[in-house]
Amino acid sequence: MSNTKSPQSNDRRTFIKLGLATACTSTICGCLGTGGKKSTSKDNETVKLLSPDGKLVEVAKSQITPLPDDEFINREAARKGIKGRKFVMVIDLALCKNARKCITACQKMHHQPEDKEWLQVKLMKDNEHAAPYWFPKTCFHCDNPPCVKVCPVSATFKRDDGLVLIDNERCIGCKFCMAACPYSTRVFNWDEPEQSEEIASCASSPETSVPSEIGTVDKCDFCPDMARRGELPDCVTACPNGVFYFGDENEDTVTNGQETIRFSQLIADRAGYRYMEELGTKPRVYYLPARDRIFPVERGLEDLSDPLKEMFKEVFDNNI
Ligand code: SF4
Repeated sequence: MSNTKSPQSNDRRTFIKLGLATACTSTICGCLGTGGKKSTSKDNETVKLLSPDGKLVEVAKSQITPLPDDEFINREAARKGIKGRKFVMVIDLALCKNARKCITACQKMHHQPEDKEWLQVKLMKDNEHAAPYWFPKTCFHCDNPPCVKVCPVSATFKRDDGLVLIDNERCIGCKFCMAACPYSTRVFNWDEPEQSEEIASCASSPETSVPSEIGTVDKCDFCPDMARRGELPDCVTACPNGVFYFGDENEDTVTNGQETIRFSQLIADRAGYRYMEELGTKPRVYYLPARDRIFPVERGLEDLSDPLKEMFKEVFDNNI
């Protein structure tokens, strides 16, 4: 599968360097390093930008102030990561009720359709006697990532701040990374992605993971553009049950937006573990065991809504 690139890419990047301005600091495409496209109108010198609420707005070029070079997140900086940080996530399985708000927030943030889930909530059952439990699964941003090792063009890479990202301008669609990931967290764009024209014409950035491109690989990115602004990933803030904690291992602090906790203490006190630790991938996502859980599935399949029963039928039918 070949990688299809927009012929406008260079224009877009040129524009961004000229035109990144205050109006663009929190565009729909993320933050710094993304932007809009030039107006085709001859008689007025305007550019189109995306507002934070996703509306296309037209701004006079004279009103735009270029950002200083050191504020522009170029590709090199996007590959390096945020200085001094070591991002980590903790997922409390005892709290997950499969509200699925994390999934829809992620899809909205990354302009993905309903059937593309970078973050999934699986139904797990450890043995025939144990009650099932919900298991949210992100990319684990492994410290020893097999996906990065097999990429022949360095399209996927590990940053100093711990994040594993994808530069889809480099991706050649070989799918080696998908085969290498033992957690099946990556998705391939077999067809032209369902995105608005505005999103499709944004400059791509490894920091925002949009726009998606046909013939390339996507995955959960831990929302690095938001981290750069000091904000939590959308899955964290969207969860009504406080399941996701996100933070910085260097600062030994994580928060679910409701409480802030010492990371090392949380893992020690709650017996935090990493999924399939024996593989040696060293995930940057830790799980807190699903003990004392409060979700309805604990009492059996009959408590689930019909669509969920259907979705997880295989798990129960096979008693796994
Ligand atoms: Fe790579 Fe998979 Fe680990 Fe994510 S979970 S870093 S895609 S190996």
